[in-house]
Amino acid sequence: LYVEHPLGAGQTVPLSRDQAHYLFGVMRQVVGGAVLLFNGEHGEWRAEIVEAGKRGGVLSCIEQTAPLRLPPDLWLLFAPIKKARTDFIVEKAAELGAARICPVQTDFTNAERIRQDRLQAHAIEAAEQCGGTYVPHVAAMQRLEKTLSDWPANRRLIFADEALVGARAVLEAAPRSDKWAILIGPEGGFSPTERNRLHDLPFVTPISLGPRILRADTAAVAALTLFQATRGD
Ligand code: SAM
Repeated sequence: LYVEHPLGAGQTVPLSRDQAHYLFGVMRQVVGGAVLLFNGEHGEWRAEIVEAGKRGGVLSCIEQTAPLRLPPDLWLLFAPIKKARTDFIVEKAAELGAARICPVQTDFTNAERIRQDRLQAHAIEAAEQCGGTYVPHVAAMQRLEKTLSDWPANRRLIFADEALVGARAVLEAAPRSDKWAILIGPEGGFSPTERNRLHDLPFVTPISLGPRILRADTAAVAALTLFQATRGD
């Protein structure tokens, strides 16, 4: 269970109404039961239920069961698509170890805005279900060109370019870097202006994801998997 509260031996952790509903109403837990907690900072802790009510409850931390496992320093930049598919991308990015999820508005992006809080809640749920001890941060949506002009030093951007369909995936040949990001375009792909700009930037490595054009949500999963298999841990 993800909590926004410090974790440590003897630390008590108050539960929100939703968390109490989930633990006591849905999971049928009772006082004395054990719950695994993480907060993205202090690893995983086993806690005991000391109070259980309809509107809240209290847990007490007993012992650390896993240290904090930080994912590789990998960001996923993607152009939001339809709601359900955007939710899917955020969920899979959290499961596949993205440390930061950045919605970007490209020339052919249809979504005008995103619900950042809702997407963050999806990332938390995904981290809870895959036993992670870390929750990726979902950033506010930004124009792609702004993201590129403010690009931080020493971070390589892997650009999944549908125009390279059929070329070999060349991630192995990308210069070494400790910090990475992956960029996936919208259903309409990238505009010629965006593609030219991306190919000219020194921190960008364009890659193909194989001989077929993948849907944006599939492409995000494929690129994250490819990264984790070749450069991740
Ligand atoms: N409408 C575009 C077209 O027909 O060329 C396709 C866009 S594709 C549905 C959405 C995004 O997924 C692309 O912008 C790209 O980032 C990624 N993508 C899909 N298939 C890919 C491939 N084979 N290689 C590299 N990137 C791919």
